Amino acid sequence: MPTKKIDPLGLLFPRRCPVCHEIVEETGGLVCEICRLKLPYIREPSCARCNKPLLEQEREYCLDCSRKKHQFEQGKAPFVYDKVMRSSIARYKYGRRQEYAAFYAEEILQRHAKKISMWKAEVLVPIPLHPSRRRKRGFNQAELLAKALSVRSGIPMDASLLIRTKKTHAQKELNDQERLANLKDAFSIQRRNIPYHNLILVDDIYTTGSTIDTAARLLKEYGVQKVYFLCICVGMGN
Ligand SMILES: [Zn+2]
Ligand SMILES: [Zn+2]
Repeated sequence: MPTKKIDPLGLLFPRRCPVCHEIVEETGGLVCEICRLKLPYIREPSCARCNKPLLEQEREYCLDCSRKKHQFEQGKAPFVYDKVMRSSIARYKYGRRQEYAAFYAEEILQRHAKKISMWKAEVLVPIPLHPSRRRKRGFNQAELLAKALSVRSGIPMDASLLIRTKKTHAQKELNDQERLANLKDAFSIQRRNIPYHNLILVDDIYTTGSTIDTAARLLKEYGVQKVYFLCICVGMGN
């Protein structure tokens, strides 16, 4: 039997760039320097509620947020969901590139640490997957991200507060109303009291906000006062 002292994890799973998928090891960074230039950072002006980029400087909220009464107070993300991020997140979720969570968490905190500390949240709560979907995938991408955020920010994570009780259909093809119907009773809370006043929901992508709204509404029924969100990406603004 070979007795070479090598790190089997380092050999089998070297850290890969979340953009080009090549191995990043020489620099010790989480992303290639060239790929960093391709990252679609959200530029200002952006929506004061959901952080989507705005086309018109003078507006405070995006069209979606000016039309809707959201259940959350505010949310932040570092990136727009473009084709670079679409393939990055697809590899993260379906290609077993769980190490990308560290990169996403660092980007979120580098951009938004100040805002996050102003929120005074007691806990990070990942949006749960239905248990059968979680089993199939082997992990919950939002929980991995919340854990990486928790380690770096010192804000504890509570991954058992929200439970997914309904297996929902993919939201992509649905309009706002269909999304809300799809999500009706999607979550439950199996505790009598929630000891938190302010909390941060963590998910991978924010598009229309229906998932965050559904979870926030339920949490507020249990006495939570302020609900924020952190995501890797927001959809394109308007
Ligand atoms: Zn790269
Ligand atoms: Zn908005």
